[in-house]
Amino acid sequence: MRLTFALLCLVACMLAGASVQSSSASRADSGDADLHRLRLYHTHTGEHIDIVYRRGDAFLPEAEEQLDHFLRDHRTGEVKHYDPRVFDILSDLAASLGHPSAEIQIICGYRTSWSNEFLRARSSGVARSSLHMQAHAIDIRIPGVDTLTLRNAALRLARGGVGYYPRSGFVHVDTGRVRTWCYGCTSSQN
Ligand SMILES: [Zn+2]
Repeated sequence: MRLTFALLCLVACMLAGASVQSSSASRADSGDADLHRLRLYHTHTGEHIDIVYRRGDAFLPEAEEQLDHFLRDHRTGEVKHYDPRVFDILSDLAASLGHPSAEIQIICGYRTSWSNEFLRARSSGVARSSLHMQAHAIDIRIPGVDTLTLRNAALRLARGGVGYYPRSGFVHVDTGRVRTWCYGCTSSQN
């Protein structure tokens, strides 16, 4: 009886050892290059987030949930599930500018239709059918990177819409069709 228990223990320990070994091996194989991380600061809520949102090809549902909450409509508190390809745009933009660990500033994430109308009543730079209302768009700036440089980097990615707002100092990116516009540009700024 005691021998059987000892044998069982031995087998269990070997199995445990094997599983520890295989998980550390796969971690080593996957490497940090497979982990996609974002550091964000929301200028309206004052919140910060530092999160790995994708491992390899897989978006991480828990991270997506946290990012959805982080990017909520800051006027109403409502949350909508974000198109995670927007997160890739942010991450790739920071990397393409040589600032892969930059804390990206969020000026606006998700907007309810109420919030969009609220803004439209106060500015002519807000579209009636803004992709912010579908959680497909984000307005950003990156400290230390001028707005034009950020806009040009976003255009080079060619992943969707790019809006340039030089007076407010931010760039709009979205996962809609590839297009561009400027709000308040003089012809030399285009
Ligand atoms: Zn926008």
